Amino acid sequence: MINKESANSPNSLSSFEELESNVRSYSRSFPVVFRKAASAILEDENGSEFIDFLSGAGVLNYGHNDPDLLDAAIAYLKSNGIVHGLDMATSAKRRFMEDFGAIILRPRGLTYKFHFPGPTGANAVEAALKLARKVTGRHSVISFTNGFHGVSLGALAITGNRYYRDAAGLPSAGAVFMPYDGYWGADTDSSEYLERVLADASSGVDLPAAVILETVQGEGGINPASKEWLQSIERICRKDDIVLIVDDIQAGCGRTGSFFSFEFADISPDIVVLSKSLSGSGLPLSLLLLKPELDVWRPGEHNGTFRGNNLALVTATAALRKYWTNEKLSEGVAENGRILKEHLQHLAQCSRDHNLSVRGRGMMLGLDCSTGNLAEKIARKAFENGLVVERCGAEDQVIKFLPPLTIDGPALQRGLDILDKSVRAST
Ligand SMILES: *Cc1c(COP(=O)(O)O)cnc(C)c1O
Repeated sequence: MINKESANSPNSLSSFEELESNVRSYSRSFPVVFRKAASAILEDENGSEFIDFLSGAGVLNYGHNDPDLLDAAIAYLKSNGIVHGLDMATSAKRRFMEDFGAIILRPRGLTYKFHFPGPTGANAVEAALKLARKVTGRHSVISFTNGFHGVSLGALAITGNRYYRDAAGLPSAGAVFMPYDGYWGADTDSSEYLERVLADASSGVDLPAAVILETVQGEGGINPASKEWLQSIERICRKDDIVLIVDDIQAGCGRTGSFFSFEFADISPDIVVLSKSLSGSGLPLSLLLLKPELDVWRPGEHNGTFRGNNLALVTATAALRKYWTNEKLSEGVAENGRILKEHLQHLAQCSRDHNLSVRGRGMMLGLDCSTGNLAEKIARKAFENGLVVERCGAEDQVIKFLPPLTIDGPALQRGLDILDKSVRAST
């Protein structure tokens, strides 16, 4: 029986307001009903187009519905390829691991084993923390101010933002927060503080199992760490056999230009956590890369029903082959990142009374508007004008720019024109 109510007028949010929990969030920032998308363009039920500078919070680095990734998925489905196989050995998983080794790891001189946890980023972070604790026999994990690692209990404990942590209903356990790079301004090296408290047996800070960090903090406000700081953190970890975990869920898969966001800093994390854009198609897929000597798991000791979904592995493999067997994507990120950054810097200069500033690396950029109010006004105006951008940072004061890495020149320019207009209307 067809419910008459479901014949809503286009873009009506009434079913969402009635049926979906209050926990919904992005549908509040972007109050239309989206029906399709291609590349960097979203379309709503009225046929209106929006330029997507959010890209599913970094899930869609290769844009919406990349035709080659869709073809790979459709061909696999039509061939009765295994979609779900728990963590049984499948042809699709073998192909992915072999290709990832050949295309990503070996050219970078990296040796890691693959651990496929449940499909979300938080699933992967939980697995990484558990493994680091098991390897070291230590309890605590050091994370950083403004870090974001997911909202399941373990990942939440190492997430800075109080809004998320307050919702846990339990005290956070096992986390110690240290100042991220630049927390006290550009002139203070915050890694010296970490080094000091770990060396001081009377600091009250125990030796941790792991240090976990994002090389560019995404939800925390687009804060990029410097090469020197990252190298100091690595050195500090090595001294006391602390597992260094890079959470590359948002900054990885090319967002900052290289496949891994830490390549520029020449560090070698013990565990790398990937998710968001790993499948390339928007299908959920997460992965831990771990140094072979850390592989102390016993069979099935950490498990999950949806590990390494095969359809997602198929599109992930297609993405590796299409985008990572030559330099074109990385060069495009450098070029588009430069255009975007210069544009934002110009915009910041033109709105001098408002104290705007620009941060980020590659195509992961933020416009810090100083206040949440101003950022909200600009983002809302932008949406009215056809641009999807979201906010981040402790006060939601930073507008975050994560266009698809593959965005074409005209769409990028259209987005920037809308942004200009929205900033002018708000300042
Ligand atoms: C999104 C994100 C997570 C959490 O991933 P979910 O899939 O939402 O659980 C963890 N770390 C970082 C850096 C993220 O951006």
